Amino acid sequence: MAAVFDQYTIDLLNFLCKEDAQKNTGVPETLQQEVRQLLIKAEQSDLTTPIIALFSRLKNLRTREGWSAEVFNISREQLEELARRHQEIDEHMVSVGGRVGQALSIVSEANSRVEAYLKVKDIEAPSGIELWDEITENRQRIQEKLGMSEEDWNSFSGQIRHAVSSVDQLADLIDLPPEAATDIVRVTKNYRMRLTPYYTSLIMPGGVNDPIMLQSIPTGEMIDNAGVEIPPVAADHSPARLVDQFYPRVVTIKSTNMCAMYCTHCLRIAHIGKKDKMFSKQAYGEALDYIRNNTRIRDVLVTGGDAFVLPNSMLKWLLEQLDGIEHVRLKRLGTRVPVTVPMRIDDELLDILEQSNDRKPLRVVTQINTAREITPVSKEAFKQISKRVFAVLNQAVLLRGINDSEVKMWKLCETIQEAYVRPYYIFNCSYRNPQFVHFRVPVERGRDIVESMYGNIAGDAIPRYIATAGGKIPMHRSNVVGREGNELILKKPWNGEEVRYPDADPDLYGDDQFSFSRYKS
Ligand SMILES: *Cc1c(COP(=O)(O)O)cnc(C)c1O
Ligand code: SF4
Repeated sequence: MAAVFDQYTIDLLNFLCKEDAQKNTGVPETLQQEVRQLLIKAEQSDLTTPIIALFSRLKNLRTREGWSAEVFNISREQLEELARRHQEIDEHMVSVGGRVGQALSIVSEANSRVEAYLKVKDIEAPSGIELWDEITENRQRIQEKLGMSEEDWNSFSGQIRHAVSSVDQLADLIDLPPEAATDIVRVTKNYRMRLTPYYTSLIMPGGVNDPIMLQSIPTGEMIDNAGVEIPPVAADHSPARLVDQFYPRVVTIKSTNMCAMYCTHCLRIAHIGKKDKMFSKQAYGEALDYIRNNTRIRDVLVTGGDAFVLPNSMLKWLLEQLDGIEHVRLKRLGTRVPVTVPMRIDDELLDILEQSNDRKPLRVVTQINTAREITPVSKEAFKQISKRVFAVLNQAVLLRGINDSEVKMWKLCETIQEAYVRPYYIFNCSYRNPQFVHFRVPVERGRDIVESMYGNIAGDAIPRYIATAGGKIPMHRSNVVGREGNELILKKPWNGEEVRYPDADPDLYGDDQFSFSRYKS
């Protein structure tokens, strides 16, 4: 059979068989034997691996020492025969040149992009799963100090009843520098602090700027930061009671001002206020009427505060009301509860989610900012939720010291994906509130981080990068860097390489006779 080799294989054969000055000089006998063995295995086997092993070794010796195949008494004809056989065995007719000359080097170069990450990810950004032993120790200490029974710990009501809202309590449970304690007293006059015992157990002793502490314990900056607070979104974007609206077809209902834990970077800090409030059915009624009377609205986000802080009966009622509106086609529930108090996810709630999802698609939108927030318990909660709803999506906030490095963000996105949650958005921390300007990360940094993910982690683990300014503005850098005639010049975000990409043929596209429309009746 005539050998039909592709250019990759011709190039590889030429490379391996080309003679040069290094001929025959000082090849150790053991190496001669090793290569002979590889040749025998390649010739006797009906697998591709031994053939690839021989060619790889020869390529390596040719590159490093300049030794050609001839040096090992292997003729071009022998190599061609093996190359031919490789192509025959391989289901997709991949050539030896394509595999050894190209694919393996391409993979090896790609591998180098993730090497550093793989080395440090579990050290620089451990997840709550990797730290579970330490978290369990913390839990025992906290549970004992708070006098919580097992039942208290494992129930939502127990967690809320024992939630930590005073500095003294907090200082008793975690390492808290005295100055921090003084500051918290000062700050909590204006801003709420409430950590569930569970969330408190995620704090690692001795950590400075522990990502869990940063998110949940207010610091002096919150009142000392200079800056003017821009009025809350509702001030000029609330067309009806409880409703915020930026877009014609999507609205939010701020269904409660309560959260299980109050985040220091909360964009809704003005809504949260200083104490828990129950909203009346009358208030919900007016919000629902607005939606009912506006037939453009197809997607309703029930947020808060935190939607899962609402009692099951109230959530059930709200979802039934929304499902009953003809033009409302999908719903979302915004909640951080699976992260701050996963014990809330009880069977009754899961049934309510499933029933609503059966009527019309329901998504649960959460907020996870660090891999530390994924523990075996929160992962289980997300797994249960994900079985009952259409999608579980994450909206992270880009926060200094919490997730503003490639390692931390990659780890976050991979960890949540492994916990049944899909990265959806990553928000640049807003300029809106001076309370958290110290958490802000430059827009460009976020772009670098998000772009570093392309080609290195699964596509559906890469969030869209957003700045909120009266709506969500995508911050993606354009990868289209030029155009020549009908060809685009595209840049690969992961290595900057530019490739030419022929655009669709405009004449073909302009011709409306295609596919089925070509048929004349
Ligand atoms: C975030 C948000 C939405 C939803 O935006 P999507 O891009 O569809 O996720 C809608 N309305 C308001 C007021 C919002 O803040
Ligand atoms: S859970 Fe959401 S609404 Fe509640 S404090 Fe945190 S960021 Fe604010």
